Amino acid sequence: MWQKSTFWSNPQLFQATFDAFSSQIALLDRAGEIIALNQAWKNNSINSCLAKNTKIGDNYLSICKTIVGSQQKLADLIATEIRAIANSEKTEFEIDYTDDHLDQKNWLVIQIRQVKQGDWLGLLVVQKNITQYMQTELSLRSVVEGTAAVTGKDFFYSLVYHLTCALSVQYAFVTECLEEVSPERVCTLAFWRKQNFGQNFEYSLANTPCERVIGGTTCHYPRNLQQIFPQDYDLIKLNAESYVGVPLVNSSGKILGHLVVIDERPMEDGSTKLAILKIFAARAAAELERQKVEKQLAHDALYDRLTDLPNRHLLSNHLHRALEKYRRDRNHQFAVFFLDLDRFKYVNDSLGHKSGDLLLVGIAQRLKTCLRASDILARLGGDEFAILLENIQTLNEATKLAERIKQSLESPFHLGIHEVFTSVSIGIAFSEPGIDSPEELLRNADIAMYKAKALGKTRYELFDDTLHIQVVNRLRLETDFHHSLDRGEFRLHYQPIVSLIDGRVTGFEALVRWQHPQRGYVSPEEFIPLAEETGMIIPLGWWILQEVCYQLREWQIRFNNSSLTMGVNISQKQFSQPRLIDSLLQIFQTTGLEAQSLQLEITESLLMENTQATMETLRQLKALGCKLHLDDFGTGYSSLSYLHSLPIDVLKIDRSFVEAIDSEGNNSQIVEAILMMAKSLGLKAIAEGIETETQLAKLQTFQCLYGQGYLFAKPLEARSLSTWLNHWADCRSSFFASTTR
Ligand code: C2E
Ligand code: MG
Ligand code: MG
Repeated sequence: MWQKSTFWSNPQLFQATFDAFSSQIALLDRAGEIIALNQAWKNNSINSCLAKNTKIGDNYLSICKTIVGSQQKLADLIATEIRAIANSEKTEFEIDYTDDHLDQKNWLVIQIRQVKQGDWLGLLVVQKNITQYMQTELSLRSVVEGTAAVTGKDFFYSLVYHLTCALSVQYAFVTECLEEVSPERVCTLAFWRKQNFGQNFEYSLANTPCERVIGGTTCHYPRNLQQIFPQDYDLIKLNAESYVGVPLVNSSGKILGHLVVIDERPMEDGSTKLAILKIFAARAAAELERQKVEKQLAHDALYDRLTDLPNRHLLSNHLHRALEKYRRDRNHQFAVFFLDLDRFKYVNDSLGHKSGDLLLVGIAQRLKTCLRASDILARLGGDEFAILLENIQTLNEATKLAERIKQSLESPFHLGIHEVFTSVSIGIAFSEPGIDSPEELLRNADIAMYKAKALGKTRYELFDDTLHIQVVNRLRLETDFHHSLDRGEFRLHYQPIVSLIDGRVTGFEALVRWQHPQRGYVSPEEFIPLAEETGMIIPLGWWILQEVCYQLREWQIRFNNSSLTMGVNISQKQFSQPRLIDSLLQIFQTTGLEAQSLQLEITESLLMENTQATMETLRQLKALGCKLHLDDFGTGYSSLSYLHSLPIDVLKIDRSFVEAIDSEGNNSQIVEAILMMAKSLGLKAIAEGIETETQLAKLQTFQCLYGQGYLFAKPLEARSLSTWLNHWADCRSSFFASTTR
């Protein structure tokens, strides 16, 4: 029996224990009679309609029956459940309910549990007020629901708004630390003041309640806020009395900002608000971090990592806008610069990539100093930069900038212990009515830049249409050139070389032509460099040598003149072929041509390259018996001093010097000097490009022995040459009157 137990045998102790609970508790027997009530029940401290007018000895089931009005149904249910538990159909029951008869909504919970002690069975009825708990939950739910679907900037607006509603406070704001500006400053991301969103603002943390929060501590000031922080004038403006603030901490523990609520009234239930703020501070920190990552990604997509300059993509957007403006109003002229560092590869290769990177950053900084704030400087990649210069009135403004850039790069860059000098080649394209894409603009500036490179670097060039046509043609040519040899599109023409004493034909120079299916003859000056670049010069060169040797041997036999010679132009790559000598030997064997009939024409520039190996090849060619002609003499390095040390037989005086001999016979000093020098070195000379009788006469005066030129014959196909030879036999007497008879 429960009365007999040690604990219950002391009714005072039992009652005191019972009274210690803040919940209202009643003990009933199986029939519903109230056996005991605690003090909270007696006072009805939670204001429950189910606890009114109850005293020990009453039957609780009867009391339930007396309840009418809105809670009648609840009272019936409670009575039913008490009966069920008394009959051991169940052991417990619990229900929440609200009580609206007060000013404030009251959330209550009633729990009924079976109590057994031996044969005795009773019921414990417990009633609790859960209003605060429910309010917190509702607040949380309303803030969660209010902010769940929102991201980005709107999230913070939504958060402060819902927090003020849920926590019944007048002010709420969330901030972000302004580390780049100053670690002591923050800026609000959203601010709710009473009825509206306030303007975002920046402020210094010193002497404010926020100072400790940003330091990492949660803070709750329930009242007297202005007295505690007398130097914080913002608190006066807000008429602030109480404050709760929590820091926004990211996943790695860094404080990003803080979340604050402020009220004009004291805030006694601060701990609940603090708990709620903490939850949302975590969510806000995650959102802030997400935004930062998003911002960084967006930044990375548009900016170059190394220099932090706009990248090609962003530049393209700017160019697009500039084009649009120009389309609407032709006065909005602009220029695009394409810059490429000269010799950057050298820095990278010799000093390493780190130094290369440092140089690029340094260049970016210097370039910036040359520009106006409105100009756009971008890095296109590698050592390429671009500039968009808007609102220019004249070409002059662009060329002046190019000059400024050139000058700014004149002083050296200090890369660690290294001092590096560099320069840029610049191509400039201007806004033009026909251009409608950023790509086209950049391409034009790029083409002009290539011209600047080709013309010797450290300079700028302006784009014009002819440049574009040149590039397009070259591209087409490159494609067509690929298969030209297989398709047999090359032809050899021969230009006679005559004695300037009597007009006798001493030999020929073989000149190759490319018969392009659409364009007709393409000049060797156009395609030989291409053949060099692509390496096609090697098979093409052999083809020429073979053709030429067969042809010359045939003519030697036909004209019964084995002293006829043939000049063949040999390019750099062909000359440095290791198999040159062997292949020549083989050709001589198969064609039956004597080596001395072949005159290999090489240029001065070829001789300047790799002198050791070059000298060896020249020596071997001489040993083979070939004659060596120095072509275009005077246009190259013209270092006369090295001539005597070379195994050269003939100097071919470049056409430009012959051309300079005008009708008055002036400007002929160079030709005269070359001829004198050749004589003193024991070399023969052939004058190229003789077109007039004046030139011929002058050359004869200077005792130049051989010549070639349109005056005698243009380069001709083999089959036209017989006709020419017959014709020449008839007319040469008119040129060489004194000597031919
Ligand atoms: P080059 O070896 O100096 O050839 C002489 C060039 O002057 C030829 O131009 C010829 O047609 C031109 N010419 C001759 N007489 C006159 C004249 O009286 N007036 C004018 N205005 N020009 C004259 P072409 O055939 O266009 O060849 C240009 C250059 O291309 C040659 O200069 C040579 O360096 C190169 N080349 C030609 N054929 C070959 C070849 O088979 N192999 C290699 N590697 N280069 C070649
Ligand atoms: Mg030549
Ligand atoms: Mg020449």
